[in-house]
This record gives sequence, structure tokens and C-alpha cells, in this order.
Amino acid sequence: MNTYDVTIIGSGPGGYVAAIRCAQLGLKTAIIEKYSTLGGTCLNVGCIPSKALLDSSHHYHDAVNHFEKHGIETSGVKINFKQMIDRKSEVVAQTSGGINFLMDKNGIDVFQGFGSFVDATHIKITSEEKTDTIESRHTIIATGSKPSTLPFITIDKKRVISSTEALSLNEIPKKLLVIGGGVIGLELGQVYSRLGSEVSVIEYMPKIIPGMDGMLSKELQKSLKKQGIKFFTGHKVTSVKNTGDSVTVMADNKKGIPTEFNADYCLIAVGRRPYTDKLGLENVGVKMNERGQVETNDHLQTNISNIYAIGDVIKGAMLAHKAEEEGSMVAEIIAGQKPHIDYNLIPGVVYTWPEVASVGKTEEQLKESGVNYKVGSFPMRALGRARASMDIDGQVKVLANADTDEILGMHIIGARAADMIAEAVIAMEFRASSEDIARSSHAHPSYTEAIKEACLAVAKRAIHI
Ligand code: FAD
Ligand code: NAD
Repeated sequence: MNTYDVTIIGSGPGGYVAAIRCAQLGLKTAIIEKYSTLGGTCLNVGCIPSKALLDSSHHYHDAVNHFEKHGIETSGVKINFKQMIDRKSEVVAQTSGGINFLMDKNGIDVFQGFGSFVDATHIKITSEEKTDTIESRHTIIATGSKPSTLPFITIDKKRVISSTEALSLNEIPKKLLVIGGGVIGLELGQVYSRLGSEVSVIEYMPKIIPGMDGMLSKELQKSLKKQGIKFFTGHKVTSVKNTGDSVTVMADNKKGIPTEFNADYCLIAVGRRPYTDKLGLENVGVKMNERGQVETNDHLQTNISNIYAIGDVIKGAMLAHKAEEEGSMVAEIIAGQKPHIDYNLIPGVVYTWPEVASVGKTEEQLKESGVNYKVGSFPMRALGRARASMDIDGQVKVLANADTDEILGMHIIGARAADMIAEAVIAMEFRASSEDIARSSHAHPSYTEAIKEACLAVAKRAIHI
């Protein structure tokens, strides 16, 4: 029987990063993945394919709507949807192949098969061909998540689909209904809207991306509405029916009046659930909470001392980079180090265009906690760089402690916000004040000048507005 220092179940961004870090620290490491490709949700049916389609559809949208203004005349621009989907699949294959390379390079044993606990130190691996059992001193559960739905909705994968099917459709929907105005609904909604679908988003809460700063929700909805997406916020979906070649959705509107929606596809994007099916947690007595998450302490350790858990299967934001940080952290803990993650500084990004990115506290959270804060904002349209590229929607908002000037939150909507937010994360890791950023030189012309200006605006001394 093979014996390992650490075995990781699941090869998503949490699992494969944990495996690499364990191997770097000299631990004999194995990773188990039930699918034939490594990389988990993120690489196969999440972050990477969605960004590939966002990029392709963005190019098409620019060619049709913006090239002429730039002085580029095109004619006969059309979509080859099969090629778009094929390219996305190639990007996925290359990226997943890269993980195989990294496993090899780091001397990690990869087992393809379904992992389940026999007891606290033995894991059974079942594949189509055979069943193996390995022994492991420590195990990291990194089994991720699956799309969730509402109790009365069946995702039939034909007309009523999850993000997984939406990333591999055979045709562009004429009409697409999206239930859930969160990250998945808006990213994939924008993909199909750009490709010509009539997209309607039905959201239960009074605003889209409800967990993010209110300014971001408002600005993003305004921009996406301008691009043609329809929003039905404050709507409570009551039924979703596949009628053969279309879908009918009933929802109670803000006044409680039943309203009917029809489309050829309905994307269910109301969140994801932790995935622990058939993992055999009951064989070892690993505790779960009422939300189906594996319970962990501050060291990502479960109630069974040699079993740890990371990523989407535990509490916290369901984000690839959060899972990655936890992957590194748990490996270091097992190796006897004392790492730490500041969860307040895990950024959140929505890859629509304009992009949305956020870190730290929202203004709503600061109000609720009674912290004395100051605000500085700067609109993208006042930036030369934004006018040059015609990406003038959006703004940067900085929230700083009114007494100490420490930056408490930064919320950006605009071109390249996903990349810009890194400046805020680093600054906040070093507990920078808004004045620290305001006094740092930012290249001109660049979008990051909006961050500097918003920090200047905290002290009411922005230059360009
Ligand atoms: P996962 O990536 O879910 O990986 C878990 C792996 O474990 C899977 O491969 C699964 O097959 C395997 N597994 C489960 N059970 C077993 C078992 N018993 N035996 C063997 N293997 C098992 N996050 C971002 O940060 N940025 C984005 O842009 C982004 N875009 C997204 C877009 C979409 C459409 C979706 C759905 C998600 C997106 N996410 C994004 C979220 C991100 O994908 C997840 O947060 C991330 O993948 C979680 O990583 P993980 O390692 O915890 O789990
Ligand atoms: P989400 O939590 O982002 O959004 C779900 C939305 O559905 C919310 O706005 C919620 O209010 C709404 N909702 C819930 N019940 C509803 C109902 N009955 N009727 C109408 N609306 C309802 O979840 P998601 O978009 O499904 O994404 C799942 C996870 O994947 C998220 O945690 C997200 O972090 C992750 N993800 C991240 C990215 C990224 O980082 N760019 C991209 C995609 C997914």
C-alpha cells in the first residue's frame, strides 16, 4: 500500500496549489481527482472558460459597436459560435494540461478516481478500471462546489441550465433568462447579450451583486442596461418550466403580482453548494455545518486532527484565489509553519465590462459598524486614458478611517478594475493611508491614476475634477 505524508482530495485551485506547496516543503504528496482533467471547477467549467468567452464576445462587441468610431471600417463581421466555443475548450485544455506538468515537475502522485474515506488515515480511490487504497498521515479535503438551485427548479441541462452548460451551448439563445443577478449571472449574461441574445436578469434582492458596495451595484446595472440587458430586481421566482423548445418562468414582481417570462434558455445562477457527496465523511466523523460546509478552525483543521479542508467546501467566499491562499496555508501548517490569511483582503471581481473589483469593507458595512470614515471618489470619464480607449463608465471609491486615514475599503468599476484592485490589496496589506497612495507617482496616462485621484479626493484635493 502506498503511504503519503499528505493526500489531497480534489484538484481545483485549492487542491493543486496545496499539493505543490506540500511538495515544495518536502512532504510526500498525492492528489486524487475524479475527473480525467485536473484543475477543478475553475479551470474546466469556471474562471477560465468564462473569461475566454467574455474575451471573445468582447472582441465581437467592439468590432460591431466601437471600431467605426476608432476609424476602423469593417463589413460582414459575423460570429462563428462553434469556433468561439472550440477556442474556449482549447484554452481550458492547455491550462489543465499545465497542471499535469506542475504535478509531474513537483513529484506529486496523481490518482484519477473518486476518493472516499475508509478511516482517518486510509482513502479508497475508485475508478472505472480499479479500486486502490492509500494510506495518508494527513488529508486535505478540497472537493469544491457544484451549482445549486431552488427547491422547485430542476436543472435539466437542456433548457434549464447551469453555468456548466452555458459555457458549452450549441447555439446562441435568441432569448436568455438569467435567474440570479450575481457574478455568474452577470458575466455569462453579458457574454450572450454581446452575441445578440435578448437577456433578462431576474434577481430576488432589490439590487444586483447584492453583497458588494451599493455604488458598484448601481453603476454596473446602469452600464449593463445601456448595453441592452434587462433587469427585474426584487422579483421572487415561483416556477420554472421547460416547455420543450422554450422555458416559462413565473415570478412575483415588487408588488407581488405574478409575472410571466419566456425564453429559449434559462440560466440558474443562484449560488453554489459545497460538494461532499459520497466522500465518506461519516466514516470518520468529520463535522459539517448546517450549510453543508465542512467545519474548520482557524488552522483549516476539521474536528479530526489530521484532516483539513479548504476552498469552496468550507466557509467564506467561493473564489479561486481564496482557495489558493488556503491551499498554501494548510500545507505550511502541516509542515509546522505559522502562516496567516487576512480574509478581509481577499478581493472580489466581476469580469463584466466595465469590470468590478472590490476589497475591504463596503460603505454599508462601515455605516453599520459605526466606524468614522471619509470617502474619496473619482469618475473614470475624467481620465485621459479612459477617453482614449472610450471606456469612460465607472469610478473608483476609496473609504478611509476618518481619524487615522487608513484605507478600509476600495471599490472600483471601470476598464481593467480586476488588475487595478491589486494596488489596493497591497496597500491595505501594508496598512497604507489614503495619503500614502495619493503621494505615490502613478504612470500617466493610466487607469490607475483614478486610484490616486480618489485617494487625493479623500482629502478633498483631487486634481482633475
Ligand atoms: P473546485 O475548483 O470545485 O475543485 C474541486 C475538485 O474536486 C473538482 O475537480 C472535483 O471533481 C474534485 N472532487 C470532488 N469530490 C471528489 C472526490 N470525492 N474524489 C475526487 N475528486 C473529487 N472564482 C474566481 O476567483 N474568479 C473567477 O473568475 C471565477 N469564475 C467562475 C466562473 C464560473 C462559471 C464558476 C462556476 C465559478 C467561478 N469561480 C471564480 C469560482 C471558482 O471556480 C471556485 O471558487 C474554485 O474553483 C474553488 O476551488 P476549489 O479548489 O475549492 O474547488
Ligand atoms: P452569487 O452568490 O454571486 O449570486 C447569486 C445571486 O442569485 C444573488 O444575487 C442572489 O441574491 C440571487 N438569488 C438567490 N436566490 C434567488 C432567487 N430565488 N431568485 C432570484 N435571485 C436569487 O452566486 P453565483 O453567481 O451563482 O456564483 C456562485 C459562486 O461562484 C459565487 O460565490 C462566486 O463567488 C463564484 N464566482 C466567482 C466569479 C468571479 O470571481 N468573477 C465568477 C463566477 C462565479
